[in-house]
Amino acid sequence: MGSNSKSSPIETPGAWKPLDLSEFQPLSMLEVKNTRVERSRYPVIDMHAHMSFSAKVVNGVHLGEERQFFGTPEELIPVMDRKNIRMLNNLTAGFGSALDDAIARYDKAFPGRFFAFAEPCFNRFPEPGYPQIQADAVAQAKQSGAKGIKLLKTLGLYLRENITTGDLVKIDDPRFDPMWEACASLEMPVAIHVSDPVAFYLPVDRFNERYEELSNHPDWSFHGPAFPANAELLAARDRVFARHPQTQFIALHVGNFSENLASVSASLDRYPNMSVDIAARISELGRQPRAARAFFEKYQDRILFGTDAIPHGHEFPQQLFCDQLYEIYYRFLETDDEYFDYAPAKVPPQGRWQISGINLPDSILKKVYYENAARIMHLEL
Ligand SMILES: [Zn+2]
Repeated sequence: MGSNSKSSPIETPGAWKPLDLSEFQPLSMLEVKNTRVERSRYPVIDMHAHMSFSAKVVNGVHLGEERQFFGTPEELIPVMDRKNIRMLNNLTAGFGSALDDAIARYDKAFPGRFFAFAEPCFNRFPEPGYPQIQADAVAQAKQSGAKGIKLLKTLGLYLRENITTGDLVKIDDPRFDPMWEACASLEMPVAIHVSDPVAFYLPVDRFNERYEELSNHPDWSFHGPAFPANAELLAARDRVFARHPQTQFIALHVGNFSENLASVSASLDRYPNMSVDIAARISELGRQPRAARAFFEKYQDRILFGTDAIPHGHEFPQQLFCDQLYEIYYRFLETDDEYFDYAPAKVPPQGRWQISGINLPDSILKKVYYENAARIMHLEL
């Protein structure tokens, strides 16, 4: 031991210091294949992007027509062209004049590149005439040019009898039946976000695999008696699917139970009117690549491509973030690469693990990238 040992304590056995979890950024020493997939093998319809959001949210309920826009079409189109994205769905385009604005700004200005889903308006929920008002609003949204309806997790977790106060309104509340039926008769698919990752229902402690994510977003935790259980929410959702067999439902985020593909499969088997998107869930799918590959093989006609991209508001410059995000999705679907980051971020945002690709054959890739969406959405390409 020379005098050096004092100036480099790391090299001295037993002298390491505890490390704050937020500072832990291990570099993988694996020497494995690293395929860059700059463009998807087939054109893409991204069913799940957010170019506008409600500007007024009270206790988790989106109220009022006012919208906040992210990204202009002029900013988005170069990214789309680079990444082989034929169409982007603005999934949260709102309703009323805001929906008209969104459709004018994207869909009508650049035909064939954008489409939009409308959202229900909960402002008038306590009124006795609400069920019909909401059904009529779906027809109005169709008139305006919306291609479908999107429901946030508002339903089941936030909306209450008096909008923001009182008892939680259940997902299968019969007051929404006219809305679901209007979606069927108008051929408007319903993109529905129910529940959330199952770890959000567990205590935020050292056993929680999404500890860092929940620490960064404490309001995402649904742990405790104030919230319904995950299983209860999914069961209520499934009762809606059963009661409205003519309505097409797109259960977002792999039915929001990608931790349990057997459960998602059981629902898909039971409800032929259900399909799923993969938005923000390649993290889950890619850490069970063999089960995921089997899932894609079995449900190849009912899986839609989506990312949950929000063109602005990330720590990365917008365009770089979008490019990297799409390349990771393509790598997951198209390659058999192992152990790579599922998001363009220094620390994995949903949990500290890596993913592997599932190397889908061309016939399934084509369906997932655009054919299924085009069929379900009645889109002409
Ligand atoms: Zn989303």
